[in-house]
Amino acid sequence: MTVEHHRPRDGATSSKKCPRWFGVVEFACHNEPVKLLLVEDDKAIAESLVEGLTAAGHSVVHVTTGAGALAERGQELVLLDLGLPDMDGRDVCRELRQRSNTPIIMLTARGEEFDRVLGLELGADDYVTKPFSLRELAARIRAVGRRTLEGVPNGDDSDNNAPQAIGAMELDRRTRRVRVDGEEVVLTAKEFDLLAFLANDVGAVHTRTEILESVWDAHWYGPTKTVDAHVASLRKKLGDHRWIEAVRGVGFRLEPPQ
Ligand code: CA
Repeated sequence: MTVEHHRPRDGATSSKKCPRWFGVVEFACHNEPVKLLLVEDDKAIAESLVEGLTAAGHSVVHVTTGAGALAERGQELVLLDLGLPDMDGRDVCRELRQRSNTPIIMLTARGEEFDRVLGLELGADDYVTKPFSLRELAARIRAVGRRTLEGVPNGDDSDNNAPQAIGAMELDRRTRRVRVDGEEVVLTAKEFDLLAFLANDVGAVHTRTEILESVWDAHWYGPTKTVDAHVASLRKKLGDHRWIEAVRGVGFRLEPPQ
């Protein structure tokens, strides 16, 4: 099992020439440096990605197997290939998610069986389909990283960092932690974002489109079914489906179970 560490390339700046990556020769590197774990067994893809990502200022630990991925600790974001030689990427995703909230972007190949809703249910925060451009991947890394590393802007509450109490729930935006009846509920980045969004206006109904636009990025043209999948897993984790009420034909609202 090989693990390669790659440091950000010296002098990585915003208009650096990046390697040819599926036809994209240059991409603007306006990224916050992120410690990435790249799990990819395809040598050519991995080399291009390592080169492009380190040129963009990120540090990259590269492993080629699921076992290698599970042995790593301390990364801020995981890029996870779905088709790995030793394990199914879905199982790796599930295991990584069980022990931490580190954001995961799945790398999937065209033609590979990947149900995006299932992937998101497994705890992936986003996915890209090969062949993708480095520019596209960088945008996803920025979007996911911005949300999870710096927290989500939460409108009117942004200068009030005290945990919010909603019935038996305590939602702490600063630490991104949620407790119900004093018990911590471990959420994925997206689940937390969704909950925090609904909690910005307890009792108000939010449409699926509104939720998609606020919690997912503008680049997300996914089906509104994605929202329902996340609502379903949130309800399960919160221990009572009544926390999130579906308002038929409209959307969802958050309210303490009565
Ligand atoms: Ca592969």
